[in-house]
Amino acid sequence: MTTIFGKIINGEIPADIVYRDEQVVCFRDINPAAPVHILIVPLKEVATLNDLGDADQALLGHMLLVAKRLAKEEGIADSGYRLIVNCNADGGQEVYQLHLHLMGGRHMGPMVVRR
Ligand code: AMP
Repeated sequence: MTTIFGKIINGEIPADIVYRDEQVVCFRDINPAAPVHILIVPLKEVATLNDLGDADQALLGHMLLVAKRLAKEEGIADSGYRLIVNCNADGGQEVYQLHLHLMGGRHMGPMVVRR
């Protein structure tokens, strides 16, 4: 796997891993944008959301359910949280291994800056 997240998946570089199963690894963002900022990353090599197909329906559902579970464990389920997937340049994607951001622990503000 070629990305920095691939290296984390393979154990080549360390990360603050909070959950792992046969489909995903979840670790704290190195530059958190909120008190809780966890990345939910599939073990399967997938660059962007565009690269998923019908066969990945269960994986996507699993990622959301893992996010819900981690939100509860982190104590932000009731106060609320935001899930984000950035895709390609205009989406602001920096790491080209699919990942879901789980963010909370403070009010997350407006969804996007309106221009
Ligand atoms: P995105 O813009 O959606 O591609 O988000 C990439 C995220 O990965 C950013 O929030 C980075 O802070 C985070 N990140 C980059 N390198 C690492 C790393 N080694 N460990 C944890 N998070 C990272």
